Amino acid sequence: MKVLYKMRQKMGVPKILNLIYPPVCGFCGKLNQDFLCPKCRKLLEKEAIFGVDNYIKINEAKTKFKEKNYILETLQNKNENLNIINNQNKIENQINNNLNNKKENRKKNRKKNTKKNEIAVQEYIAKYFDEHLYIFLYQGIIRKMILDYKFNEQSYLYKTFVNFLLKNKNFFEKLEKYDTIIPVPISNKRLKARGYNQSLLLAREISRSTNFNLKLQEDCLFKIKDIIEQSKLNKEERAKNIQGVYELFNEESLYNKKILLVDDIFTTGSTVNECSKVLRKAKPKTIGIFTIAKD
Ligand SMILES: [Zn+2]
Repeated sequence: MKVLYKMRQKMGVPKILNLIYPPVCGFCGKLNQDFLCPKCRKLLEKEAIFGVDNYIKINEAKTKFKEKNYILETLQNKNENLNIINNQNKIENQINNNLNNKKENRKKNRKKNTKKNEIAVQEYIAKYFDEHLYIFLYQGIIRKMILDYKFNEQSYLYKTFVNFLLKNKNFFEKLEKYDTIIPVPISNKRLKARGYNQSLLLAREISRSTNFNLKLQEDCLFKIKDIIEQSKLNKEERAKNIQGVYELFNEESLYNKKILLVDDIFTTGSTVNECSKVLRKAKPKTIGIFTIAKD
């Protein structure tokens, strides 16, 4: 039975194996063809928020206040465990001090410093994607479910997520407007250890659900370096850690396309942002992100 279970996971539950090892609800384990029983579906419906974040608007707003934002975010990262609201005054003072210091520095060495600072800020806040679509917030039972999906070999949960998604027509239509779907790749080393790429399973199932109108492209984006796990790092470290680890292939096939990039969780967004940055080289029309949850 254990062997069958493993096979079922690796092969993404092919029909023949369903006869031997029938489909079950991803939550409670009851037999269910949709991989989600009505009772658990109701539970998920309570958790679902079907978020759409528009980054074109965020980018515009951030450009106006980019320097202040950059400093605020940096300070917030350093004080992650503190209550930001209680420390608001302190942070405001620090911001003002930092801004004053920056002004003085700039006076001293104006040309050099301004340019350097500009590039750092741009790199830090630039978003290379246009929107982010997600079903849940990364908390409670959803968090547990995603951790099981990713780390506890419960790869079949992709069926549960996508079947849940399909029943919400309005939201699913937002995914269908894209031309091509690309999973966030994992390194070969990670693939060997885990046995599956959780983002690929999701992307493939979504593509299937649209009768392949949303074309799965697995041959464009690759992770060429194995790096420290992003979850162990803070926002700034994540952004640095992820740089230069993805490589673009067959870029001509993405020219002028509407790309939907798929990942499981969106935490700081540095992974999908780095992937988007690389994908931009192919001059696509637009890039959207889909994740199951947002942290
Ligand atoms: Zn259930």
